[in-house]
Amino acid sequence: MAQNYYDVLGVDKNASADEIKSAYRKLAKKYHPDLNKDNPEAATKFKEINEAYEVLGDASKKANYDQFGSANPNDFFGGGNGGNAGGFGFDFGDIFGNIFGGFGGRAQQGAPTATKGRDITCRINLSFEEAAKGVKRDISIVRTEDCADCHGTGAKNGTEYSTCPDCNGSGQVRFSQDTIFGRIVNSGICKNCNGTGKVVREKCTTCGGKGVKRNQTTVSINIPAGVDDGQIVTVRGYGDAGLRGGPSGDLHISVNVAKHPLLRRDGFDVLLDVPVPFTLAMTGGKVIIPSLDGKLELDIPENTQSGTILKLRGKGIKHLDRNVYGDMLITVKVELPKLGKNKKEIAKMLDEQFPLDKFDKFNDYNKSVKNL
Ligand SMILES: [Zn+2]
Ligand SMILES: [Zn+2]
Repeated sequence: MAQNYYDVLGVDKNASADEIKSAYRKLAKKYHPDLNKDNPEAATKFKEINEAYEVLGDASKKANYDQFGSANPNDFFGGGNGGNAGGFGFDFGDIFGNIFGGFGGRAQQGAPTATKGRDITCRINLSFEEAAKGVKRDISIVRTEDCADCHGTGAKNGTEYSTCPDCNGSGQVRFSQDTIFGRIVNSGICKNCNGTGKVVREKCTTCGGKGVKRNQTTVSINIPAGVDDGQIVTVRGYGDAGLRGGPSGDLHISVNVAKHPLLRRDGFDVLLDVPVPFTLAMTGGKVIIPSLDGKLELDIPENTQSGTILKLRGKGIKHLDRNVYGDMLITVKVELPKLGKNKKEIAKMLDEQFPLDKFDKFNDYNKSVKNL
């Protein structure tokens, strides 16, 4: 597998698609096994040529190969996706098709592999508190599951398997084709039994013999405390059922968190602005605040300035991955009263009671301005 495909085809890295195709044609003719019956190495060489062309002859695989040094292993080397994972099948469909007017279908080799089920996605809406504290949710999804009636076998209850008549149980069929080279015999996966060598006598009527069935299902999911808006919670194994004994896919839940009317979030801290009447800020007192643990009484100390941030340690949001909580940070916003005409007198009196030298910050500020 580690061979350089450009070397195999004897072309330059900058070769055009036409040049690659033409190099492949020449080599494929030269090393075709049927034309090299006395040269056992030709078959190996032929395989390598096909392998190289399967990548370099496909724009997207070529791009991947150029960038990462391999074609996507999932859709090329027969790993992942069942159906079209032909590996180095003798794929003449494209290249000789034009020349000889069709060469039959694409042949495939090797037994079909267990395939992981597809991942599925869904969305949920959470309240601010649910996201912060975690919640158990029943989520309705549509996914393929092992057919309950045949337990994933595809065989109607009570019926047995019998040997596939098309391939006599080998899972592979050979087919021959007359070409300009003479008669070419290839083998590929038996379509009748999908390479298993066995067929069910009577197909399960519920799933039509597929062994899986699309179901609307409700799954119970624990959304962890601390998830944030836009995050994705992945639950392994809750996607589509795997095929031929493969593992199930995953469920990706995209989380949408509603805004809270008063609380905001900053990482794992919870933020709140509290308006406090100036008299209460002066004398000190209590205000009621919302929190993740319900409503709390918060002490405003005597002489609290506007903009002061009061911290409630550990009253924030739990970190997703560890048992540590953020804080709650409350910003005091001192509010002045609306003044009616008759209250102006009181304001003047206050002004007399609190001459400017009582305001340290204001005095510091004025000094700084003067020194500019
Ligand atoms: Zn068969
Ligand atoms: Zn079934």
